Amino acid sequence: MSEDRREETTQAGPDGFACSRCGRGSRMAERPFKGKLGERVWAHVCGDCWHAWIRMGTRVINELGLVLGSPEGQAAYDTHLKEFLNLPGQP
Ligand SMILES: [Zn+2]
Repeated sequence: MSEDRREETTQAGPDGFACSRCGRGSRMAERPFKGKLGERVWAHVCGDCWHAWIRMGTRVINELGLVLGSPEGQAAYDTHLKEFLNLPGQP
């Protein structure tokens, strides 16, 4: 994850964007991370909820002892991410 992410501004989007977690918010300026899941998060989740997940995700990693370098750890992390953010669509 890159550390030089831009600050997201939370001006209300005129595009009818509704976050899958809070039902409001506005789209992040940039995809939060690469790949298909990053694309889905960007399409469905507002910046505030994404930041809430970053804090929660750190706790999940610590509490479950997830190793993100391993496929199992990454899969478990992704599962928690999708649940927390209420991402719609395929698992
Ligand atoms: Zn939200």
